[in-house]
Amino acid sequence: MIFRNKVLFVSVLAISFYFHGAQAADFEVQKLSDGVYAAIATPGGKAVSNSGFIVNDSEVVVIDSHISPEMARLLLDEIRKVTNKPIRYLAVTHKHRDHIGGTTAFGMGVEIISHENTRAVMAADTAPTFRIPTVTFNRKLVFHRPERTIELLYLGRGHTDGDIAVWLPKEKILFAGDLYFNGAAGVMRDGFLRDWVATLEELRSLSATTVVPGHGPTSGNEGLLNFQNFLADFIRAVKVEVDAGKTLEQVLKDFSLSKYKDLAGWESRLAMNLTRCYNELKGETK
Ligand SMILES: [Zn+2]
Repeated sequence: MIFRNKVLFVSVLAISFYFHGAQAADFEVQKLSDGVYAAIATPGGKAVSNSGFIVNDSEVVVIDSHISPEMARLLLDEIRKVTNKPIRYLAVTHKHRDHIGGTTAFGMGVEIISHENTRAVMAADTAPTFRIPTVTFNRKLVFHRPERTIELLYLGRGHTDGDIAVWLPKEKILFAGDLYFNGAAGVMRDGFLRDWVATLEELRSLSATTVVPGHGPTSGNEGLLNFQNFLADFIRAVKVEVDAGKTLEQVLKDFSLSKYKDLAGWESRLAMNLTRCYNELKGETK
């Protein structure tokens, strides 16, 4: 009996070591170019969303913070494996918790940058568990550095009313935030769907060679087209139902678009996405 308990204890220990060790695998840091890195969340892991960082000659610029301080601290550890340069800026691509939840892990000296609409929502939170942005912009904010230019771009409404993308013209790398879900049905709850299609057109016109989505693996520019086609097809299919005079309840019951049913999150997000799309097409979205 004692022996059996010992075996059990050792197994539990082994399992807990395994899971502790697996933490680092909640995301994977990928070097995209000299000084440019993406941290790609592992499906089902604790990071939930992607992030990235850019190592300039004089500082580090981080893009998004993952969902929690715990995950952000792991990201900071990963950055320290690459460089000792000070982390001075954290750009948050939009207001959603899975991208801003780690902001409190960054020192108070780190400027948090967002679109002004994103900050407005974050600042209105009565019990924030994240840091409120300290620098905002409306259309474009540019870091001019001898080694590279970093453009923070607002190209129109999309996944929210304050999504920014980070564009590196020299490297032709684009961090698209949640304007782009790769291999997944986008989250449309706070979206402006027809504007989103147009904003994706703007992103595509940058002709990036590498695109980092908010969720899913990196891709080439064609990944943006795939996602744009999905969104446009979705809107078109819902419009057919709206034009046929169906109620939202009927649409929720009958809708299918089998071409996309294998996308991650298709089923779990369908009611939310249909509701948002239906309301927008009926002119009921603010
Ligand atoms: Zn989001």
